Amino acid sequence: MLTLHCPYCGVDADETDLHAGGEAHLKRASTGSSDDAFEDYLFMRENPKGVHFERWRHAYGCGKWFLAARCTATLQVFGTYRAQTHEPPQDIKDAISAQRPGWSWGNFR
Ligand SMILES: [Zn+2]
Repeated sequence: MLTLHCPYCGVDADETDLHAGGEAHLKRASTGSSDDAFEDYLFMRENPKGVHFERWRHAYGCGKWFLAARCTATLQVFGTYRAQTHEPPQDIKDAISAQRPGWSWGNFR
């Protein structure tokens, strides 16, 4: 079972207490952007087998949204962090690099 640490209330929450919210760090298509850019924003997702950044909600806890970095193949969690960040904290990127040398995800590495 997947267990994620909620960065707001400090609880290690089981998967059944959480609600998945899809990919993290999406860049919203701006006003006046092309149809292709808007289509990419709405429908195109990374969906990797490996390192992934996701949105989760502590639905049966504090109710807040947070972000998690984990491996989709092994369920290894590299860390969780508050949702109001534009990119993963450096300590989480370092933890991923230590476990998965050469990884990249979108513009992150
Ligand atoms: Zn919480």
